[in-house]
Amino acid sequence: MEHFVIVGGGLAAHQSARSILDARPDARISMVSAEQHLPYDRPHLSKGYLAADACEPQLLSGATCYAQPRLKLIHGRRAEAIDRAAGRVHLDNDEALGYDRLILATGSRVRHLPADQVHAPVHYLRTLDDARAVRDKLVEGAAVVIVGGGFIGLEVAAAARQRGCRVTVIEPRQQLLARTGSPALSQWVDALHRAHGVNIQLDTRVLSIDPADGARARVETSAGPVLADIVIAGIGVLPNMELAAACGLSVDDGIVVDERCATSDPSIFAAGEVTRYPVAHLGVSTRSESWTAASEQGSAAGRVAAGDAAACYSEMPWLWSDQYDSSLQCIGLTHLACSYSFIGEPGAQQWLALGWGAQDQLACAIAANRGRDLAAIRRALKRNDALPDVYWSTRASATPTLL
Ligand SMILES: Cc1cc2nc3c(=O)[nH]c(=O)nc-3n(C[C@H](O)[C@H](O)[C@H](O)COP(=O)(O)OP(=O)(O)OC[C@H]3O[C@@H](n4cnc5c(N)ncnc54)[C@H](O)[C@@H]3O)c2cc1C
Repeated sequence: MEHFVIVGGGLAAHQSARSILDARPDARISMVSAEQHLPYDRPHLSKGYLAADACEPQLLSGATCYAQPRLKLIHGRRAEAIDRAAGRVHLDNDEALGYDRLILATGSRVRHLPADQVHAPVHYLRTLDDARAVRDKLVEGAAVVIVGGGFIGLEVAAAARQRGCRVTVIEPRQQLLARTGSPALSQWVDALHRAHGVNIQLDTRVLSIDPADGARARVETSAGPVLADIVIAGIGVLPNMELAAACGLSVDDGIVVDERCATSDPSIFAAGEVTRYPVAHLGVSTRSESWTAASEQGSAAGRVAAGDAAACYSEMPWLWSDQYDSSLQCIGLTHLACSYSFIGEPGAQQWLALGWGAQDQLACAIAANRGRDLAAIRRALKRNDALPDVYWSTRASATPTLL
């Protein structure tokens, strides 16, 4: 009986396991996860789960598959090394698992603030345990300092405001969501949070975080000190690619895979946030921090490993973010946009920005409360259809991006 080993316990690993179960009734699967829980939904952690005490964590759909005897979930264990010559994965309890096919779905870990700046507790948000610890501290009236004005930081800010906390966001760059490189989106989200009472400090660097009176922390910044009952940092993630690098697989800010989720070793595949994969529509490769990419690429990796000759994944990354009662969505790669056209006024409640690349191709689309438009664009891209004229025709009015 062929043995598939999956390293990782998140969405990509889960989807890989389900695909193999479906495609290969004759196969045995071992899934090694460093976490203690059954695979759960991460996006929920910074939204509904954080905003309301009554909210439970959400297991991923299809979690009943772990009751199947053919799928063994080894949780609370880390894979520490891969011996490619012997086809074995070594775990942190001195056990080793032999594999016929291996899928790496190790995801990312949070980037930490420099250790020499931090002398008081700082929270991060990646896992259910992290979210539980943060939620316990988001009590009404608490002073919450969030370091980093990216998607996670802003979602935490929205949840904390919904719980009646006083919230300050400290962002070293001159705009929120700076990584998206879209001034329209940055300004819009800035206005949204200020309207909900968030104190936003742009162009401000954290210098140190020290204990203050009681359980509080004093966050020393380039614009002066801020006192906090809780400090939460959302300053990005790092791909967990060391296992792959150490056994000689090709890595480049992520495990390098092709559209068949194949690594540089024909028996080893990779999927999810840890991969750098080709985006066919744009002719570049990227690492994507997106739920949909992890889900779809995870399924594809499982099918490929199980022998499906047609399975592949090379989609434009697509992600969404819910803040207060607004929904943002972004498809594509914003850094490839040289100009933008708009449907709706960027400052208004609903608008859509279309980012055009150097060859006049659609590089990205950003939607504020215009989910239907984004769904239509996504559908066209997925099917390789022409972009509907209502979007394509706006190119004539595109103006160069202001970065
Ligand atoms: C709080 C939060 C909110 C988010 N919100 C959104 C959103 O609104 N929209 C969106 O599109 N995306 C969102 N995302 C991103 C999305 O959830 C992720 O991109 C996706 O879940 C990644 O899945 P993954 O399986 O690739 O990696 P991960 O979820 O990181 O899973 C990797 C797993 O592998 C385990 N692991 C790592 N190394 C080892 C090892 N050596 N041995 C054993 N196990 C190991 C880890 O412990 C982890 O369980 C959010 C992410 C977070 C954290």
